[in-house]
Amino acid sequence: ITVADTTVCDPVRDTAIAPLAAVAGADECAPLADGTEIAYANLDYAASAPALAAVAEAVTTALTGYASVHRGAGHLSQVTTRRYEQCRETVRRFVRGRTDDTVVFTRNTTDALNLAAHCVRGDVVVLDIEHHANLLPWVSRETGATRIVTARDTIEATLDAVECELAAAPAALLAVTAASNVTGEVLPIGRLAAIAHRQGARILVDAAQLVAHRPVSVVSHGIDYLVFSGHKLYAPFGAGVLIGRPDWLDAADPYLAGGGASAAVAVVGEPDANCASTAWHTGAARHEGGSPNVLGAVAIAAACEAITEIGFETIGHHEHILRNRLDAGLAAIDGVTPLRIFEDAPDRVGIAGFDVDGHTPRAVAEYLSDHHGIGVRDGKFCAHPLLNRLGRPDGAVRASFGLGTGSADIDRLVDAVGRLAVPHR
Ligand code: PLP
Repeated sequence: ITVADTTVCDPVRDTAIAPLAAVAGADECAPLADGTEIAYANLDYAASAPALAAVAEAVTTALTGYASVHRGAGHLSQVTTRRYEQCRETVRRFVRGRTDDTVVFTRNTTDALNLAAHCVRGDVVVLDIEHHANLLPWVSRETGATRIVTARDTIEATLDAVECELAAAPAALLAVTAASNVTGEVLPIGRLAAIAHRQGARILVDAAQLVAHRPVSVVSHGIDYLVFSGHKLYAPFGAGVLIGRPDWLDAADPYLAGGGASAAVAVVGEPDANCASTAWHTGAARHEGGSPNVLGAVAIAAACEAITEIGFETIGHHEHILRNRLDAGLAAIDGVTPLRIFEDAPDRVGIAGFDVDGHTPRAVAEYLSDHHGIGVRDGKFCAHPLLNRLGRPDGAVRASFGLGTGSADIDRLVDAVGRLAVPHR
């Protein structure tokens, strides 16, 4: 397989931005089945993106001196508390949140969506293309029904179907992904927000696959709630975000009851009555019981700042070049079929789902790893309803990329898939 334009530059790697965009693990080597080693090509960014150097530095600095947050009068407690609260503000600015939005630090997107589901009363409308994280918390609730709309072949028809569903019966919320974790197709969240609001609902956007790749504006897109994970935003595991309107969050019981969430607690009634009366905080603290993940918040904030400095224009340009190279390369291989939900998606982030005739997804992924040192994901990507509907009950292969990826990584993947798809080459 030859890729047409081998002279193309990598806008991130070949410019002054490169040191800022450097990611951890870039020098990693992978063992091959023949006993040799090769430079590892990580094409699994959609699962977890490697940490940016700037993030590692910020976490290391924070580690050099910290103390308890919120409750200590000592100097380091105050420094750490200020740092933690500043992280909320950095996140709010990164996604252009409203000044009165609550920013809750969670464990990840799944946790943020479970928190949202805990707070929402009434029906919720979702699409059948969602990651399980934006499906199962809703269907597990007892405080309202979950109505699942089947995505249509086009985004236009899907928007119509969503509007019909919202118009058919009142719903509290439309909960929708901003970008598919299977195909990378980007949904028009501003238009979905307008539809939800027109029909008297709010909108929650699962931006797990978008925030690292495209600018998000809570205000100008009209988003009521936004969730995402640090580990897909070039920060490490263990921290995520829910940002959104405070009223439903403050009206709900604390997500995690305990210290930090409570303002005042008293034992009431008769002795040994075992009855406690609690006044809960409002705001983020209400749902952040226990000692928070300060280093996770520091990492997310550092990632937000580094990405802002790199700039979404550069990121988009870089991904566009790699995306075209990957699309063209895979399209030229007989027996490789890309996965698509929509015929008219105007934009896709760096995710390519595909399958290779005659090979199971696991066999493709193992071949790429064992013989070429390339890491991709295979399976159903926690999106079983979508994979089933796309006629892939046994799953597919997913390659995904980001700031640490260069044209050479894409070329290696295309070359390797070509060798597998055409065994005599
Ligand atoms: N939503 C989408 C679109 C995802 O791609 C993922 C993870 O792949 C999630 C939610 C869940 O993210 P996490 O595992 O960080 O909770």
